[in-house]
Amino acid sequence: MTIIDGKELAKQIKEEIAAEVAEIKNRDGKVPHLAAVLVGDDPASHSYVRSKVNSCNQCGFESTLIKKDDSITEDELLEIVRDLNENPDIDGFIVQLPLPNHIDEHKVTLAIDHRKDVDGFHPINVGRMTQGVDCYLPATPYGILQMLERYKIETSGKHCVVLGRSNIVGTPMSILLSRKAYPGNCTVTLTHSRTRDIREELLRADIIIAAIGIPEFVKDDMVKEGAVVIDVGINRVEDPSRKRGYRLVGDVDFDEVAEKCSHITPVPGGVGPMTVTSLLKNTLKAARKEVYS
Ligand code: NAD
Repeated sequence: MTIIDGKELAKQIKEEIAAEVAEIKNRDGKVPHLAAVLVGDDPASHSYVRSKVNSCNQCGFESTLIKKDDSITEDELLEIVRDLNENPDIDGFIVQLPLPNHIDEHKVTLAIDHRKDVDGFHPINVGRMTQGVDCYLPATPYGILQMLERYKIETSGKHCVVLGRSNIVGTPMSILLSRKAYPGNCTVTLTHSRTRDIREELLRADIIIAAIGIPEFVKDDMVKEGAVVIDVGINRVEDPSRKRGYRLVGDVDFDEVAEKCSHITPVPGGVGPMTVTSLLKNTLKAARKEVYS
């Protein structure tokens, strides 16, 4: 069994990105610039954005963090998005989700200029992804593709079962792995809260992508021998023995499942760090105008 070390992989990729950034800086005198908009005080969102900004700094990017409290109105947030769209100094930006209930996330996503949408959530990028046209891929699925590729995991002809159909992980993952490409060429089953027998579906999987947000949902009797298991879940569970009072676990019961797998990602240190590097890769593409001129 091989543990896919997302932390180490992300470190390598960040070194590669940093080298490219240094080259761009020498040539053009300008470095890629990522902006992040953070609304409210959700601790998980704060921690994700912190890690995105730190990674920008590690790779030599310029970063701008715009923090607003959750009393911000939808119009005020849309105004910030418009300013970022028009600011020629910003190559790409993200609006960290979730947003407070009084703000329509879909409206905000639609307002982002798709050429700066380095999260890959705008329908133009989603549409292009679906058709296999160059675009900004959503960061978490993009990170998972990189893991599969760098660990040389065979995907062609494999049966992949995706657990969860969110717009940011499950659905794009199911599209990407069914495309005629590597990684891809899988036969994909997308399962969700209305799936009749999840265990039966999972037992047929050569590759499992778990993204439902339920701590340690996938148990050893749901996984076939030799499967590749990618655990996207990041769940906080109470743990009084830890200084901060909680620990992070995935959607997979790692201790039970690991020994049955050919490959498995840990939580933390698996998919999470790869998501951040994918965002940087998209921003690098935006700075180079690789996708849109
Ligand atoms: P979500 O929370 O938006 O949706 C959950 C999905 O799971 C839904 O499609 C639902 O149908 C499905 N689901 C819920 N209960 C189910 C059940 N009992 N059986 C089968 N399916 C069920 O999904 P999300 O935003 O993709 O997040 C999923 C998990 O991944 C969360 O823990 C989140 O924190 C984590 N996440 C991690 C990263 C990362 O970078 N590692 C990125 C995004 C999300």
